Amino acid sequence: MIISVVSGKGGAGKTTIATSLAHILGADYYDLDVDAPNGEHYLQPLIDETRSSFVNHPVVDNSICNGCGSCTQECRFNALYKIREQIYLNDHLCHSCNLCREVCPVGAISYKQVVIGEVRSGISSRTGAQVVIGDLEIGSTRGTALIQDIARQLDKSDMAILDGPPGNSCAAVAAIKPADLVILVIEPTPFGIHDMLQALNILRDLNKPLIAIANKSLGDEELKTVLAAEQLELATSIPLRSDYHKHLIQGEILSRADAKVFRQLVQAVQSGSNTG
Ligand code: SF4
Ligand code: SF4
Repeated sequence: MIISVVSGKGGAGKTTIATSLAHILGADYYDLDVDAPNGEHYLQPLIDETRSSFVNHPVVDNSICNGCGSCTQECRFNALYKIREQIYLNDHLCHSCNLCREVCPVGAISYKQVVIGEVRSGISSRTGAQVVIGDLEIGSTRGTALIQDIARQLDKSDMAILDGPPGNSCAAVAAIKPADLVILVIEPTPFGIHDMLQALNILRDLNKPLIAIANKSLGDEELKTVLAAEQLELATSIPLRSDYHKHLIQGEILSRADAKVFRQLVQAVQSGSNTG
């Protein structure tokens, strides 16, 4: 079973919940929050494998190019542009879709591999299960491609927790798509509720079973009202407490440090297993 842990808003405590679930379930953990992966801080894997992740970028051979402009016209992302008969690439916009090479009438476009990030893996010294960390190259805009690369190594028969990126971007969708169950972590503040509703739209489009967990809660009345309008209930609510904060600062997995959180999340997952 693949469980994706997501949140509309950054800072809602997604990694707190994801690492706790990895602990409770003895599950493999995939850190797909590739812009700022920090699950290692809690799961403390002994890294035994590191590989680079690549995408293809087009390279134009100007000795063959006849300046027809087909590639610049066809690129859906405006990644290619022409100045004085020379074709240039804005590699931040390229999505490696291959279309420019297909449309070039003279075969002037080839590809080169470009590193977009690193994938580290090893066994957690805390849970004994596999930990895989996606770490995007500084300055790269290809977080979605890195997540898709890691997602290809998922085994559907395994129990795995995917710790996705915050927000509602293509990268967040890439981290949700492989999931059998989605856990939506909500900070019950006006900002958190607003962003949760946007995430909910995407989850409904993707038609995924989901459960909602409040985190850092000082009261859930407004959140419960909003969720009720969406025909959803809170599976559990983790309060905002200074001792929880201290555990996290010290690199503790919250479910490992606090038996009540452990029990709450077990019940939440059991309720989620019944939603599919
Ligand atoms: S590979 Fe696709 S996105 Fe990249 S420059 Fe070519 S057409 Fe544009
Ligand atoms: S499609 Fe090929 S020949 Fe035409 S401008 Fe692009 S690279 Fe040059």
